[in-house]
Amino acid sequence: MTELSTPAPVVVPDPQLRIGGRAVPARSGAHFSSINPATEEVVAEVAAGGAADIDAAVLAARDTFESGTWSRMAGAERGRILSRAADLIEQHAPELSALETAEMGKLYADTVAGDIPAAAASFRHYAGWADKIAGEAMILPDVGPQHRFGFTLRQPLGVVGAITPWNNPTVVAAWKIAPALAAGCSVVVKPAEDASLSTLKLADLLAEAGVPDGAFNVVPGLGPEAGAALAAHEGIDKITFTGSPAVGRTITSLAGEKFRKVTLELGGKAPQLIFPDADLEASLPWIAMGNFYHQGQVCAAGTRVIVHESIADQVVEGLVEFARGAVIGDPFDASTTQGTIVNRKQLDRILGYIEKGKNEGAQLLTGGSRVGERGFFVEPTVFRGTNDLTIAREEIFGPVATVITFRTTEEAVQLANTTKYGLNAFIFSQNLSTVHSVIPQLRVGTVWVNGWGVPDPALPWGGRDASGIGRELGRSGLEAFTEEKTVHLGY
Ligand code: NAD
Repeated sequence: MTELSTPAPVVVPDPQLRIGGRAVPARSGAHFSSINPATEEVVAEVAAGGAADIDAAVLAARDTFESGTWSRMAGAERGRILSRAADLIEQHAPELSALETAEMGKLYADTVAGDIPAAAASFRHYAGWADKIAGEAMILPDVGPQHRFGFTLRQPLGVVGAITPWNNPTVVAAWKIAPALAAGCSVVVKPAEDASLSTLKLADLLAEAGVPDGAFNVVPGLGPEAGAALAAHEGIDKITFTGSPAVGRTITSLAGEKFRKVTLELGGKAPQLIFPDADLEASLPWIAMGNFYHQGQVCAAGTRVIVHESIADQVVEGLVEFARGAVIGDPFDASTTQGTIVNRKQLDRILGYIEKGKNEGAQLLTGGSRVGERGFFVEPTVFRGTNDLTIAREEIFGPVATVITFRTTEEAVQLANTTKYGLNAFIFSQNLSTVHSVIPQLRVGTVWVNGWGVPDPALPWGGRDASGIGRELGRSGLEAFTEEKTVHLGY
């Protein structure tokens, strides 16, 4: 059992690259500092990979793929190794959590109880798929005297490049790595520079579980260097990316030049639709967490609180009370409810959005300021305003809620859909007719009704429009790492 109340110490793994089963320095000798956002102290000096290191990692991945040691291993055996990986991730949850909290300021309690178990669940889910990857078969119409039979094969795609964000580094990486490995692919991950250490630790755990050398490689480094080199590499068959829409666009054009497959999980600006028949007592904690969980640094965050005018005052009061009750401070401390913003740049960006909200005429109800001078803390903030404000249109990636009112269900749906994003939406209502009539009208990949949480590995997750292309998780998330081949067989 994981001990939740006493955080594990921060044990930094070897901060070098993992290529072909070995920990190696960057060829340039370069490194970058990983900073603890609560203390502004250096956690580690991490090797900064560049194009030459990406070359070496892709080559190692390709060699392993072609050798068949992983790609042609019996599916059940691959599944056994992935199950073992799930067990090891669970066993090392405190250590992985401590690394994440130290590097990016998410509450240790949430990481150890939420993110790391979710990463393990992804490995466990796809372990079960590894021996069940199959195509379709059917008898086709005869052609003259010839009988025909058709079938499809699902073969591993090959070498997968994965570029991940800092906000949930282990679980987001697991959503890519577990299905790719289950399908028999080899993987090269470029983690975010703000939070690389848990992915390096994950590489060590996968090696311990029995993933062969070269099937899993990690090259930390800066986005425009290591990340761009991976996305543009001739030797990959697919790039899977989670991050901002701006970088998603760059990656799509780099990979598109080489006709490589692309999956994009991008940002969001989710609407939380609160109907007059919602159970407010049960819903308010969800609505508040939808804005303030992980300081709002969540792609699924529901920062547009779109509430029926008849209950708007109650919702505003509840949100403000929740925000004012936040205990802001050391993310390792079990009594803290709000940790830090990931870095100074992001803190300044959030404060900039808050200023913009005020300047554009939104009503600031609570919060709005930085907390303290050391560490990147900001108050949970609630505005009342309209859907056309900048703070309601752009992804802030901080704890900033905008409450917007509606009168009719049609208006609620129209407000929800008036956004460039389409990742997810929330509905709070006790009325099944309202819920069922609204779900199909929302232009999003996922709808949460009366609550939300970490996506379940058994069901797909992904968005449309500026929120991305393709799906992760579920069967779709596995098939995205296979090439479907059709066979027409005459006899
Ligand atoms: P980011 O786009 O700045 O960085 C993501 C990754 O891309 C990092 O590893 C970074 O080093 C790399 N990168 C940066 N520039 C690059 C370039 N030119 N070429 C190649 N790679 C490059 O995003 P972030 O700040 O790390 O993460 C926050 C964003 O991620 C938010 O928009 C959030 O909504 C999104 N996100 C989406 C999901 C989802 O499931 N849809 C989940 C988590 C985060």
